[in-house]
Amino acid sequence: MRLREDYEANYQSLIDLMEKQNAGYDAALIRRAYEWCVTAHKGQRRSSHEEFYLHPYSVAKIIVQLGLDSEAVAAALLHDVVEDTAVTIEQVEKDFGPGVALLVDGVTKMGRISFSTKEQQQSENLRKMLIAMAQDIRVMIIKLADRLHNMRTIDAMSAQKQRDKSLETLEIYAPIAHRLGIRAMKEELEDLAIAHLDPIAYHDIEQSLRLRKPYREEILHDISGRIEERLRRDLPGIDFHLEGRVKSIYGIYRKMYVQGKDFDEIYDIYAIRVIVDSVTDCYNVLGIMHDMFRPIPGRFKDYISTPKPNLYQSLHTTVIGRDGIPFEIQIRTWEMHHTAEYGVAAHWKYKEGIHRSDQKMEERLAWIRQILETSQNESENGPSLVQAIKTDLSQDDIFAVTPKGDVINLPVGATVIDFAFAIHSEVGIRMVGAKADGRIVPLNHEIHTGEIIEILTTNQPGHGPSRDWMNIAATNQAKTKIRSWFKRERRDENIEAGKRELERECKRNGIALPENEMLEFLQGVAHRQRFATLDDFYAAIGYGGILLFRIMPRMKEDYNKIVRTSRPPEPEILPESAHRHASDGVIIDGIDDCLIKFSKCCAPLPGDEIIGFITRGHGVSIHKRDCNNVPKNILESEEPERWVQAHWSGNYQENFTSTLQITGIDRDGFLFDITSTLYNLHVALQGINSRQIKSGNCVALVTVRTESLEHLNSIITRLSKLHGVFSVERTNQ
Ligand code: MN
Repeated sequence: MRLREDYEANYQSLIDLMEKQNAGYDAALIRRAYEWCVTAHKGQRRSSHEEFYLHPYSVAKIIVQLGLDSEAVAAALLHDVVEDTAVTIEQVEKDFGPGVALLVDGVTKMGRISFSTKEQQQSENLRKMLIAMAQDIRVMIIKLADRLHNMRTIDAMSAQKQRDKSLETLEIYAPIAHRLGIRAMKEELEDLAIAHLDPIAYHDIEQSLRLRKPYREEILHDISGRIEERLRRDLPGIDFHLEGRVKSIYGIYRKMYVQGKDFDEIYDIYAIRVIVDSVTDCYNVLGIMHDMFRPIPGRFKDYISTPKPNLYQSLHTTVIGRDGIPFEIQIRTWEMHHTAEYGVAAHWKYKEGIHRSDQKMEERLAWIRQILETSQNESENGPSLVQAIKTDLSQDDIFAVTPKGDVINLPVGATVIDFAFAIHSEVGIRMVGAKADGRIVPLNHEIHTGEIIEILTTNQPGHGPSRDWMNIAATNQAKTKIRSWFKRERRDENIEAGKRELERECKRNGIALPENEMLEFLQGVAHRQRFATLDDFYAAIGYGGILLFRIMPRMKEDYNKIVRTSRPPEPEILPESAHRHASDGVIIDGIDDCLIKFSKCCAPLPGDEIIGFITRGHGVSIHKRDCNNVPKNILESEEPERWVQAHWSGNYQENFTSTLQITGIDRDGFLFDITSTLYNLHVALQGINSRQIKSGNCVALVTVRTESLEHLNSIITRLSKLHGVFSVERTNQ
């Protein structure tokens, strides 16, 4: 069939692209799919008003560039026909065979999955997506290409849709592209998303890059020249390839706005990449680089011996160049390079060395299966799959070392508890403490790359994890293991703990009934949650399989129904007085029994370093040592004799009010996530309000009552881990 002239021209450009990929392809199949695509979408237009067929056509081009096979290219051309035209999947199967039909069907089904819904639903949808992915990874790659083209043409959509799609891209699609190791795709998705979520910051970074470009290029050119000369001289036998690399805008964005670095403090914006033939060559080149330039300590990473979870391999080192400007050098083999650029797609693109690729493919699929299994074991009220994906796909990894020198790879924010469980469940369960670089550290110690972590264990029978470890652990793996330990080992304790927790929550929510009615009510709730007995229900609460904050709203509703129909309203439960004072929590050196006031300017908390000031007639006011109203040097201050030493008495139990300032991306559910986290941690919330600040971000001020500084810090740690949160700070008000 001969098509309209412009259709033929576009077809030719697709074929040219395929020919450049020096792999064989099925020309007849592609031609047929192209004709179908053009015919089936005839008359349809996109919101940009261009002809619809240009979309599947562009997706197919992306698939060709990734080097996928003819079936995948055909499926890309046909990916929207079942959804958007009269064509059925049976017709596709008849004309193109079961291979193409399965792919089209998979992409069509995935297209119906929406992520801008409630988290519970999101999890379910994500699960469907991962299952489709585990069956044939090409489905996911086509879906990613589809999303990429939609993001490239997103300007035609409404502002609201742009934000929704961008957030979804950043939260779901880019992490999956990252996990599949398709670098170019991941980076383009992220850059397009952030350009719409935070356009001001995006343009700032773009401009900074543009301004520094000529200077940096000159330096890189000079350095490359010197490296080339030196490698030719010292390693005369080896082939090498040198190239420059610029970090993606989103990569820079994260370092600036998440880690708070200045543009010029980011050392790896510009890097030099050396590509060689063998692993031995990599280390040889590294030796020469460290001889030529002074390496910055602690910046060397060996991802060859310890690949990243997405199988990325390279040596990274940051060195100081001639003008004192640090820059990064990446050293890798060609095979590592292909894996780094194309990830899972390299399987089709580089058929040579097929055995290794097959094994890598298996490892990638193993990850998907593992994440599905972990989440399968959770009860329906357990932590959601979306959370699991977000943590397990976290882009930053840290590497810690066992005393024997084994490297353990963990996500940023992981604590020594995560480390212990990553070694072995038994180690985690028998853990009593930990050392980092030889020093004893608390269990909530966040691990940094390069730290040597030693887990202290006991053989004492009956020892096990404590319940609050669940809140300290950052990885899903550790949480699941702790939970299943409790589930297995401590049924009686779980029942007790669950019962207590439920009673407390009921009281807090004003659910009160006479004893036998209460029992009946709770039995009803347990049955609805599919538990045979009330004890099973308590036990599930006890080991964390059921999160009360998720079922509480429903319980309250049910309770209100009972109360409204059968009983006069309960008297309201009065809130605790907010004005309790805590004068006995502080010891003042040399003064007994004095009146104590906590200063408003810095609102000290137990655990803070404090100091007292003897006021005229109002007792001693307590400040934080670093409060602005306390002189830096007391002895040189005006009235040094009025400042007195103060400490917290050990058994302090009072509650304190403090206000946290939380800054993050202004997204749907931001406040909900904050409040449910606090609820989950049993923190009394005394006030919350939020406002938008520039460039799509917002600030929430949250006032909470806490028991101690430690408690407050654990709250801050948890809030900082929420998606889209940049910073959590205590404010002095
Ligand atoms: Mn599409």
